[in-house]
Amino acid sequence: MKRKMGKNEFERIKDIIAPILSNGDSRTRGKVGEYLSGIEFLKNKWEVYEPIQDAYVDFILKSGNKFRIIQVKTSKLDVDKKFKVNHDPKDILHDPRHFFVWFFFDQFQKDGKFIVTTPKEFCDYLMSGRRHGVIVDTWRKDQSREEIKLIDIESEKGEFRDNVNNWSILSKENENVSLVGIQEKEEKWKDDKKFLKQWKKNKKILKEKLADKNLQEDHVEIIDGKTRVRKRINGIKIKNEVLKNKMSLTRKKSMKYLQKGTIYGFYKYQGMNIFENIEKPSQFLKLKIECKKCNELWEADEKECYECKIWRPPVVVCKACKKINKEEAQECWSCKQRISKICIGCNKGIESKNTVPLTYCIMCGSRNNKFNISKVVLSELITPKS
Ligand SMILES: [Zn+2]
Ligand SMILES: [Zn+2]
Ligand SMILES: [Zn+2]
Repeated sequence: MKRKMGKNEFERIKDIIAPILSNGDSRTRGKVGEYLSGIEFLKNKWEVYEPIQDAYVDFILKSGNKFRIIQVKTSKLDVDKKFKVNHDPKDILHDPRHFFVWFFFDQFQKDGKFIVTTPKEFCDYLMSGRRHGVIVDTWRKDQSREEIKLIDIESEKGEFRDNVNNWSILSKENENVSLVGIQEKEEKWKDDKKFLKQWKKNKKILKEKLADKNLQEDHVEIIDGKTRVRKRINGIKIKNEVLKNKMSLTRKKSMKYLQKGTIYGFYKYQGMNIFENIEKPSQFLKLKIECKKCNELWEADEKECYECKIWRPPVVVCKACKKINKEEAQECWSCKQRISKICIGCNKGIESKNTVPLTYCIMCGSRNNKFNISKVVLSELITPKS
């Protein structure tokens, strides 16, 4: 079956875009990729929402009650005919409405292509046999960018051949499969029961160690910035404290604050991001990544130990006396020895290669997440004074 492919926006305006692609830095190029993708979404009859400040995802698309969450990556063809995409393990979210758009262009700033794909297809590509699992392991540890070969896009049997400029992929909900396995090399971490057992053990260790008297009294500032996460380790749910303060604002004031980003600040506090309709400003959506099981905020920016799965609090443990120190400490406050940093859970050395993005819910240990998307109701913020 032949697919109809009209000219994409890049082909139409490449005389304008090409100089920007060749002269711009990677951030500018990324913006071009997002801009061009945005136009394609509009052409394909989606309502397009973009974040009002930098957010984890680039777009929310809406059509009736249907939503799509999009991450866009832009890449230039290398001399060895490869494109690089930098999806981290934490980009592999488990909601069937999650999609990737890759915008590729060649060294002559020509032949711009969009690849519309799913996290599942990307994972299948990572796992494909010819890679011998080698690249996958560095990817799991967040140390490599993935390479997509031109041949995988252009050849008859190329894995992404059918994804080129194929915007119809977005209309289908993709397969709702668990992609947790891709994040782990060892079988034991792929087993839910074994994982949960370790999670409970880790939680006990954290509770005990972070409740350490010395940490509380002498080093109280150590994990101040992480109060929220520390509370959650102890099972305390986060309330809408900020919401209460804003409830008494007048409409006029709220609109002023809205422009200043209070609305963003308010939701950001609750781990949400605000997106605005690019055609109809002042229509907003909010997005929260949450645990599929307990619906609590998914801590996408937190890290874990690759070896023992414990949450990495911003403290270091002294190898000699096992006491907890400030993250930046050079000498142990207790035994005065030079600190050789070890993991709070497994006592293995802390090196960047052992620290990876969190792969579980900090509240319940579930390994699956989903999107929570809803309209921002301004009356949540505005309560006219009676
Ligand atoms: Zn010590
Ligand atoms: Zn560890
Ligand atoms: Zn949970």
